[in-house]
Amino acid sequence: MTDSPQKAQGPAGHCLSFAAQDVAERLLNWYGLAGRELPWRQTRDPYRIWLSEIMLQQTTVAAVVGYYRRFLERFTSLETLASAPLEDVIDLWAGLGYYARARNLHATARRLVAERGGEFPAGVAELMRLPGIGRSTAGAISALAFDLRAPILDGNVRRILCRLFALQEPPRSARADKKLWSWAECLTPGHRVHDYTQAIMDLGALVCTPNKPDCEQCPLETLCVARSRNLVELLPLKMPRKKIPGRHQLALLLVDRERCLVQRRPASGLLGSLWEFPGLEADAGEPLEMIRQYFAGIERISEIRLLGRARHLYSHFRLEVDFYRVELEPCERIAEGAGLWLPLGDLEQLALHGAHKKLLPLIGA
Ligand code: SF4
Repeated sequence: MTDSPQKAQGPAGHCLSFAAQDVAERLLNWYGLAGRELPWRQTRDPYRIWLSEIMLQQTTVAAVVGYYRRFLERFTSLETLASAPLEDVIDLWAGLGYYARARNLHATARRLVAERGGEFPAGVAELMRLPGIGRSTAGAISALAFDLRAPILDGNVRRILCRLFALQEPPRSARADKKLWSWAECLTPGHRVHDYTQAIMDLGALVCTPNKPDCEQCPLETLCVARSRNLVELLPLKMPRKKIPGRHQLALLLVDRERCLVQRRPASGLLGSLWEFPGLEADAGEPLEMIRQYFAGIERISEIRLLGRARHLYSHFRLEVDFYRVELEPCERIAEGAGLWLPLGDLEQLALHGAHKKLLPLIGA
């Protein structure tokens, strides 16, 4: 079985075949009828487009819309973002997850203001030198803000191309990646790149969805190799799961008169500048004894109670966290420099890192 449809398979730069143009025309026509209206589509301002593209990485449109509006109300320009403390950016990002994106936004803003007077570069290669901007995001900014012919290959486009070309290899392998970029480049038209880019994003979000794609409504149906060979449900092929090591920690909800202690992590390193509950590695002994030892110099633990367990998957390890409620009297001695005492009701708004965010539903347990 081949993994190429008719004609649209030339290497990048040599793909002005009828089929490649046909794909673009079908997508543009469909987009005119069915494309989405989104807040970041009323602008060509690279600052706003860059912000939306970073927010949309790994995140749904529905989750992003409110954050996008609030972010622009607070940081109205690249300059206001660059001059803000990182902690303010992190706190406004609270709940959106993948906080490296917020750190990279801030670092990029500072660099562009310091080195380019606040001007965004237009080209893919220059954009890719900025923190947090990979090839696909650089392509999207180039196409959407500057109407330059630059392909994108985000998760949606990857899925569409895997099906359109019936790619029968793991789509994240180096070989597949090369093919997919070549196809993405081949299909990107020389005109109306801005609209084409939004059209292919929308097709992935609305029609060629991960589960149950709506092939009957798809403008590419009669070109799609997966559709003609009845392979749609099987593609893209799943990558085999990597085995990763596990870690086990204790997190402590230290409660004093309906307030609890939270701490901000150091700005550099894993989960930098995010908030967390105080904690311990769990492998060193019996949990209740470890917690008592932890507070050995502090009088009167009135109660220790296990609230439950949360699991979180990071890219390089699995984490299990056992969450203990610890009532202390008095707390003033650990409060000095230890963190922030916050009303329990305010925890939802805090930029807790992902594993500890999952502990919040346990607080009422
Ligand atoms: S026909 Fe179906 S599988 Fe093929 S691109 Fe369209 S929605 Fe995706």
